[in-house]
Amino acid sequence: MSLVEVLTQHLDVPNAHEIDVYERLGGYRAARKALLEMTPDQVLAELESSGLRGRGGAGFSMGKKASFIPKGAMDKYLCCNADESEPGTFKDRLIMQRKPHLLIEGCIIASVAAGANKGFIYIRGEYELQARVLERAIAQAYERGYLGRNLLGSGHDFELVLHRGQGAYICGEETALLDSLEGKRGNPRLKPPFPANQGLYRGPTLINNVETLSCTPLIIDRGAEWFRSLGSEQSTGPKIVSVSGNVRRPGNYEIELGTPVREIIYDIAGGPWPGNEVKCFFPGGSSAAVLGPEHLDLPYTFEAMQQAGSMLGSGAIIVVDETQPIVPLALRLAEFYRHESCGKCVPCREGTNWTVKLLARIERGEATPMDLDLLASIQENIIGNCLCVLGDSMAVPVSSLLRRFRSEFEEHIERARAERERELARAAE
Ligand code: NAD
Repeated sequence: MSLVEVLTQHLDVPNAHEIDVYERLGGYRAARKALLEMTPDQVLAELESSGLRGRGGAGFSMGKKASFIPKGAMDKYLCCNADESEPGTFKDRLIMQRKPHLLIEGCIIASVAAGANKGFIYIRGEYELQARVLERAIAQAYERGYLGRNLLGSGHDFELVLHRGQGAYICGEETALLDSLEGKRGNPRLKPPFPANQGLYRGPTLINNVETLSCTPLIIDRGAEWFRSLGSEQSTGPKIVSVSGNVRRPGNYEIELGTPVREIIYDIAGGPWPGNEVKCFFPGGSSAAVLGPEHLDLPYTFEAMQQAGSMLGSGAIIVVDETQPIVPLALRLAEFYRHESCGKCVPCREGTNWTVKLLARIERGEATPMDLDLLASIQENIIGNCLCVLGDSMAVPVSSLLRRFRSEFEEHIERARAERERELARAAE
């Protein structure tokens, strides 16, 4: 197991983002098959049997989610979550920029499975180049009859619209995304009802991440069995992993799920600079609990990361080496979530604010060791008590840093306090 070229195949072919080139390389063959040779139930069954799990962060079965969409004539929607904002995550950007037609083809296939006739790609506001590439690709797909009415004479209608967000992390949360699409402030809704039952304009809505949808043409083209032959039993297929932090070759790498974490960090991404070792790593974006060197030999799968007490999440590995102090890292992380909290629910709004205040106090040398207990208890009061996952996304990594590096926090408090007292004494002289 190691590097593969499935989603990233043909990235080196010039103009792979153009429809002519994409079609020449076999593009839209799967959409044609789904539209003309398969029934919607067969498409759905193939997706379910592939074992494809959501690549946005939660790892929920894509086929199962599509099967929750009620049958019958009614307005149903497909939404592609392209609001990629999880710190350390930059793999959807690669797909949209270099293979926009793969995503559009995935949207068509998912629309067949869900019986949706209207679709939206909600793209992160900062992804301006990718939005322009996608706009052009969507126009090309309309011209060729892959989008619009009666696709390729199949009788299936599917309109696809690109919608640009305005730079709010919370709009990546699926129900906030829906509110934002409807023109409201992007605040999360209470779940259930889940979007599959009541989503956009209260209609059944299938929401999937860019990479998830981009896997579907490959599944329809090569078959669910082929997809299952990659990865582990519970984590099938390829995965684009964004590796960042203290590694010599940060970047996007497509691996087979199940590749050992050590291989990804050291062999593929080059590992930390010589002389340094991994102190800890976030296995699935900054919202995941950190894992340590003892976890490096685990296979990179949804189940192994979960068993280790963390998650594979969006597939973003952030490496922290021994040269990095933990207190400023925790503070920077908490500041991000405080800034992005929508403020709708109290545990998240107050909890992220108090966490930043406490960490700043620790950083400045104004804290006592008792403040560490207070910090831990704030995180406990956030976890599981918020309207959406944003609060947990700060509390889980912060509490994992505190648990793993408690002595470093204590040493920091002592050192920073001593420094502060020396400074005050000098000032008084
Ligand atoms: P979730 O587990 O609540 O839901 C996962 C998906 O399954 C959702 O689409 C949900 O609607 C659906 N679902 C779950 N149970 C269902 C049911 N009973 N009936 C119908 N549908 C059901 O997780 P979530 O809040 O959607 O996502 C959280 C994850 O998002 C986090 O783990 C985090 O890693 C990730 N995240 C990713 C990014 C990014 O940029 N990629 C940004 C922020 C967070």
